Amino acid sequence: MKKQTIRCPYCGGTAILRDASYVYGDKSRGGQVYVCSHYPICDSYVGVHPGTVIPKGTLANKELRQKRIQAHQTFDQIWKQRILSKPDAYRWIADKFCLNTKQAHIGYFSSYMCDQLIAESVKVLHNNRRQHAFG
Ligand SMILES: [Zn+2]
Repeated sequence: MKKQTIRCPYCGGTAILRDASYVYGDKSRGGQVYVCSHYPICDSYVGVHPGTVIPKGTLANKELRQKRIQAHQTFDQIWKQRILSKPDAYRWIADKFCLNTKQAHIGYFSSYMCDQLIAESVKVLHNNRRQHAFG
């Protein structure tokens, strides 16, 4: 398979596959990350799926990384509380945002999309709680 070039969406730099400790230091839990060639001036990177060199999404700066973590924490409650199964929860994202199932991953989301997902997830969680309360 041809190795694809991944670009930094902030500065246009090339993403370089490095050991995770390059950005996480001692806090690294192993694995690899795609890091912008201008790091740390351009603070932008993304992890890979464990055991692969496939990026989990697009490179993200600090603000977007935190937003994606926040979106994950809220959205994950939908399947962790078994309101939907995990695959159904991802299909729900795809339907909600008119995405195909490949695009329906938080790793590809912009800050705006994360905000939308958080808002929609909160609605689902809230409605579910109410059903339980009256059921
Ligand atoms: Zn960059």
